[in-house]
Amino acid sequence: MALQAAAASSGKVVIRNIGLMLSGDIDQPILQADTLVIHDGVITAIGRLADVDVSEPTTLIDARGTCLAPGLIDSHTHPVFGDWTPRQNQIGWIDSCMHGGVTTMISAGEVHLPGRPKDIVGLKAFAVTAQRAFEGMRASGVGGGVKVLAGAPVIEQGMVEEDFAELARNGVKLLGEVGLGSVKAGNQAAQMVGWARKYGIQSTIHTGGPSIPGSGLIDADVVLEADADVIGHINGGHTSLPYKQVCTLCEKSSRAIEIVHNGNERIGILTARHAMELKCPHRVILGTDSPAGSGVQPLGMLRLIALISSMADIPAEIVFGFATGNIARMRGLPQGLIEVGRPADFVLMDRAQHSAGTTLLESVELGDIPGVGMVIIDGIVRCQRSRNTPPASEVPVILAHA
Ligand SMILES: [Zn+2]
Repeated sequence: MALQAAAASSGKVVIRNIGLMLSGDIDQPILQADTLVIHDGVITAIGRLADVDVSEPTTLIDARGTCLAPGLIDSHTHPVFGDWTPRQNQIGWIDSCMHGGVTTMISAGEVHLPGRPKDIVGLKAFAVTAQRAFEGMRASGVGGGVKVLAGAPVIEQGMVEEDFAELARNGVKLLGEVGLGSVKAGNQAAQMVGWARKYGIQSTIHTGGPSIPGSGLIDADVVLEADADVIGHINGGHTSLPYKQVCTLCEKSSRAIEIVHNGNERIGILTARHAMELKCPHRVILGTDSPAGSGVQPLGMLRLIALISSMADIPAEIVFGFATGNIARMRGLPQGLIEVGRPADFVLMDRAQHSAGTTLLESVELGDIPGVGMVIIDGIVRCQRSRNTPPASEVPVILAHA
């Protein structure tokens, strides 16, 4: 089908015959509903077919008994410009991740730009440019229409409070990973994180060993002192802190616990389990930390969900919430939850063909990744059967398109 620009309006969309509806909310992860109605990109009704107005849709989709979940939100990405990454010199990586169910990406810093400016005027200008460019890219359909929230400056020594005020006035809402620039001391980071917070800019700190030559170690003491909003890749990116330090972070901080695909998998699994034991599952959020030295993994979010669900023994519907509703709430995003009034960003999935699991959730709990059958962003179908996942047992079909 022809790619529609994100600026186009979806009109009225009806999705019926949904076999399983995941809410994204870990307190009530499964909704008792089989039908969903969208008007111009926004969810307007959720319920049983007989109870909602499904008349005269612009687009009618038969989910054919598959699962509808909020589109996945990758909490930790490193975009640069457009749908290109210089890290592994790949193009089309964002579109490829959309085929893995990702509908929103959050930048943890556009750190891979060759010659990235490190002077204060330059880094501010670059952040504003990245924010504008990715915001503008969606209308073009480049990157599959994925919502890339970028413009995340890497803080450097010498920045003053007014720099953060200026960034905020100009639309910057995120900091890149604290610790990737010249600010590495806990007290200095804490001061700048505080200024960012004062002006509504959210912060993430790099946790663990250096990621690539040139970056450095950030240990638990620095993470606690800096007190950024997100304990970025708590399982390392790749090199993790010793597990004891990771436990200290979970126990002494109340900030978000971010587990990434491009981290230490053993620590990722242990951390998820520890967060459940500490009864703070709402703090757990997931990301890929890609593109990176490990490359780009279009199925990274699905692989991480299957890994954590199967190895940490956490119900799959809860782990999907770590990758959707938890991030929505933590980051104040409208998308990521299936509720009336929220953006219609969905992934429709089914168990992969020949999975040992008899249902989608069971297949994930057995460690298999699901097959994606359709991705919808702002009510617009962005892809049908994924070109990247194993084939889903059943896929939704578009019955009518006015
Ligand atoms: Zn990092």
